Amino acid sequence: MFSSYLKQSKILLKSVPSLRMSSSLAPLDATKLTITTTTSPKEKLPNEKLVFGQTFTDHMLKIAFSFKTGWAAPEIVPYGPLALDPSSCVFHYAFELFEGLKAYKDKNGDIRMFRPDKNMIRMNKSADRICLPTFDSEELTKLIGELLKLDNRFIPSEKGYSMYIRPTLIGTSAGLGVHTPDEALLFVICSPVGPYYKTGFKAVRLEATDYATRAWPGGVGDKKLGANYAPCVKPQLEAAKRGYQQNLWLFGPERNVTEVGTMNFFCAFKDSKTGKNELVTAPLDGTILEGVTRDSILSLARERLNPEEWTISERYCTIDEIAEKSEKGELLEAFGSGTAAIVSPIKEIGYNGKDIQVPLLPGEQSGPLTKQFLTWIQELQYGDVESDWSRVFKTK
Ligand SMILES: *Cc1c(COP(=O)(O)O)cnc(C)c1O
Repeated sequence: MFSSYLKQSKILLKSVPSLRMSSSLAPLDATKLTITTTTSPKEKLPNEKLVFGQTFTDHMLKIAFSFKTGWAAPEIVPYGPLALDPSSCVFHYAFELFEGLKAYKDKNGDIRMFRPDKNMIRMNKSADRICLPTFDSEELTKLIGELLKLDNRFIPSEKGYSMYIRPTLIGTSAGLGVHTPDEALLFVICSPVGPYYKTGFKAVRLEATDYATRAWPGGVGDKKLGANYAPCVKPQLEAAKRGYQQNLWLFGPERNVTEVGTMNFFCAFKDSKTGKNELVTAPLDGTILEGVTRDSILSLARERLNPEEWTISERYCTIDEIAEKSEKGELLEAFGSGTAAIVSPIKEIGYNGKDIQVPLLPGEQSGPLTKQFLTWIQELQYGDVESDWSRVFKTK
């Protein structure tokens, strides 16, 4: 039943924006960029003072869209407030989506965006889903590159530090009718950020959550829509009252483990009978956000873990399977994955009044595999190991 519903909705969704976008509307065009630089440059915070998403660079990228004319000329302007009509559809019906990706300073002083192509594809899928305009991924990537070059002085060069990039798309049509937005605004802001865990990893305690649901079949949990996030804050507060930092989102009568907070979930099992290990993460069935970090971890695991020792599985595991494996000493590790922290080790999962214990390296805050993935990904992000995952913008 679900699959026929999904197929049908896909056809409907595909046809709407492509029809509208294939007309004579102006495409997004990076060559039309105009730049107005700030007259009051900000003071740059020392690296150790950076708090995630609290300070922003001097400039922002803005591109207006109208369904009459298409994409307007992109503008880089001083960072500052937006003026919007209070009846704008973003405020009332959540016509909003966002992305999160990072740029790194390499040893040559050049700027490296990590896998922006993936974020652009995902952003277009989110836009398509809520009738906001789609755009040429390469053009937006180039424009973000221009913004990064202009605000290059804010990109920290120290290891562990980076520039967090937040592309956002909102419906700006004024009026209270619920319909396709006639106007939209795409903007990009940038925030220099430090390592998520200042003093190395800090393993977290999760509360397995089944009384609230983050995403469901036929819903929009696989899209980065703002509407998915606000409802998840209260369950997090509830978990915090009981001493847990995040929710482990379960789904369905089977209590499948889906995601952790706003990260994808991974765990590693040992099969005592075969001696083989298994790395497990939930499949992309429409309820799971297609994390770029998730994809990077799966690719690296398939490429670099010994296939004689490891099976890599995109399958559901239930919270009961995790509890049972933990009892038997077959739970090796568990962690979350996402752009902000890359990997976030888990040490305990509260479930049914008990805490499932997740092993950590003796005296440390993570397991060996979690650590290995962090190292592998960082080497690629900073360009210490070359790969086609980096999009390099020369600064000289
Ligand atoms: C953004 C996000 C992730 C992680 O995606 P990345 O591309 O790896 O940053 C995972 N789950 C949810 C719900 C998210 O919003």
